[in-house]
Amino acid sequence: MRRYLIAGNWKMNTTRQDGVALAKSLVEGAAAATKKVDVLVCPPFPYLIPVLDAVKDSGIAVGAQNAYFEAPGAFTGEVALDMLVDLGCKSVILGHSERRHVLGETDAIINKKVIATRKKGLQAILCVGELLEERKAEKTEAVLDEQMAGGLKDVTAEMMADVVIAYEPVWAIGTGLTASPEQAESAHAHLRKWLETRYTPDVAKATRILYGGSVKANNAETLLSQANVDGALVGGASLKAADFLPIIEAGV
Ligand code: PGA
Repeated sequence: MRRYLIAGNWKMNTTRQDGVALAKSLVEGAAAATKKVDVLVCPPFPYLIPVLDAVKDSGIAVGAQNAYFEAPGAFTGEVALDMLVDLGCKSVILGHSERRHVLGETDAIINKKVIATRKKGLQAILCVGELLEERKAEKTEAVLDEQMAGGLKDVTAEMMADVVIAYEPVWAIGTGLTASPEQAESAHAHLRKWLETRYTPDVAKATRILYGGSVKANNAETLLSQANVDGALVGGASLKAADFLPIIEAGV
């Protein structure tokens, strides 16, 4: 009952030209797949408009990698959710580990962003995940619980209708190390149980939990075959159509 979501997080990569070419290749290559799986690309802010144009009338949606929670106004350097809505973006990645660990975002800030994103009717993709030392210290579940409780504070069951969770173990991001299918499934099952306790069995059943961290064409199928893995948030392998299309196909 949960439709797979395959999302590409382009991070701070591509040029306008490369980004548009990539988007066009995906439109062509994923036309059939988009009938069965949700496909999302999240380019850098400056390329949202040309990429939105490139995927127009295709089954591919466009999202942002971040947004600010306040209304448009005096917030130098930030991008408002209203602006993303205005452009036709459907989704926002929030709480990515690079924003948490490189740019210092806290659960409290991420929480404001999740609430503001849902209030604007956009899909919020909330990223959670443990550091290597936290995994080694067997704190993975405790870290996930804290990030979920912090990120979803005051987020109602109604708002959860379009919240997607992305489990991204920090040690697997951009490192070539992937969580084993068992490690991924165990974390995902834990997250779903958390949702059941915090919300309802229905919310837990309906919420998609994506895996992210060195997802590639050669591991996507096994990861996606896990019972609680409902899609992938893909970084490096989303930058080339030849790498990303087989991952989309793995979800079909
Ligand atoms: P990666 O990045 O696929 O390059 O590991 C995933 C992510 O950070 O979303």
